[in-house]
Amino acid sequence: MYNVFFFLIITIILFGHASGLYLDHLNKKMWSDNVPDKLKGIIDKEKYKTSQYYYRANSNFSHISSSFFMVIILALLFLGGFAWIDSLARAITENRILVSIIFFGVIGMASDLLSIPFSWYDTFKIEEKFGFNKTSKATFILDHLKSWLLAIVVGAPVLALITWIYYVAGEMFWIYVWIVITLFSLFMNMFYSELIVPLFNKQNPLEEGELRSEIERLSEKAGFHLSNIYTIDGSRRSTKANAYFAGLGPKKRIVVFDTLINDLSVEEITAVLAHEIGHYKKRHSLTLMLYGILQTGIMLYIFSILAGNEKLTSAMGAEIPSFHISILAFFLIYSPVSRVISLYMNHLSRKHEYQADSYAGDLYKGQYLVSALKKLSVKNLSNLNPHPAYVFVHYSHPPLLQRIENLEENN
Ligand SMILES: [Zn+2]
Repeated sequence: MYNVFFFLIITIILFGHASGLYLDHLNKKMWSDNVPDKLKGIIDKEKYKTSQYYYRANSNFSHISSSFFMVIILALLFLGGFAWIDSLARAITENRILVSIIFFGVIGMASDLLSIPFSWYDTFKIEEKFGFNKTSKATFILDHLKSWLLAIVVGAPVLALITWIYYVAGEMFWIYVWIVITLFSLFMNMFYSELIVPLFNKQNPLEEGELRSEIERLSEKAGFHLSNIYTIDGSRRSTKANAYFAGLGPKKRIVVFDTLINDLSVEEITAVLAHEIGHYKKRHSLTLMLYGILQTGIMLYIFSILAGNEKLTSAMGAEIPSFHISILAFFLIYSPVSRVISLYMNHLSRKHEYQADSYAGDLYKGQYLVSALKKLSVKNLSNLNPHPAYVFVHYSHPPLLQRIENLEENN
């Protein structure tokens, strides 16, 4: 059991945890009592302090929760816990596919149950304390029940199909699984807004009024159909505001949170929408989708090399090689690779944000996007002075100051 793979997995877990702590430490070193010069005029002293308190509350909380889950995973690895769950599943059925489903069902259920107290604390203590929370306890519980339902109705059949292919298709299984995952994610991308979002939120076409007429003018100029713009009741869970682009081709839509409409002026909201239209015009979601497909293929190919490896199976404490034990061990070993890939994906996403900002600046009035971004960052208590290394690793959007600089350069 305690072979080279075992110690590789343990090293990866410990190193991943330590690097997370170090980056967080770098971020905290950027703190100051007074507002840094470059942020003067954007945020006042009081708000700046509050944003640091908010960061600290979140970071302390994530240290505790990530350490807790790390200890559990280490304990499961050292004590052969995954092999024990495997034998539990095998005691229930001899069907290989069902064994895998039960195995992941038990792990998924257990990790969700363990995470509930943490997300409860996050929602009803931290977010509540800083005035962001709007989630009722009933919504919180219903959200969890709905996500379990989704895991059973959608997740389990897809998992069963993949497991089946793994056992019957031989060495080339990874190509078939790649096709299945690609088709599934294309389908989800197309129908996410119509099938999944309505389970959790209400979406409505944009109402008549001043905002709609302003956006009408913008969409005409940009050649974007206004019928694809929706509002969503984000205020049901949080006061934080957002807007996003979803879907592909005829199923594309821009979704605006009702909270954004409450917080910003008509011109500012229109500027934010111009940014989202920029993502569409520059084909950003298509690009990300293609990268995602490529990544999945690479990952599955590497998995196909390691799958069923006896040493890998025994590193998890198990004796019988199986799909679920292999894939679990694989994901633990693969995590440094996926971290490197996510570095690149974050870099690409930040580049996309600059492009969408510049597009919005050209199409509409750039100064309104600047003022919208300022208002939102201050209101959401974003970290306005993050460490560059932290941004490099974690940020999918550039920090506020860089976005403003980029917009001002282009106008
Ligand atoms: Zn964007």
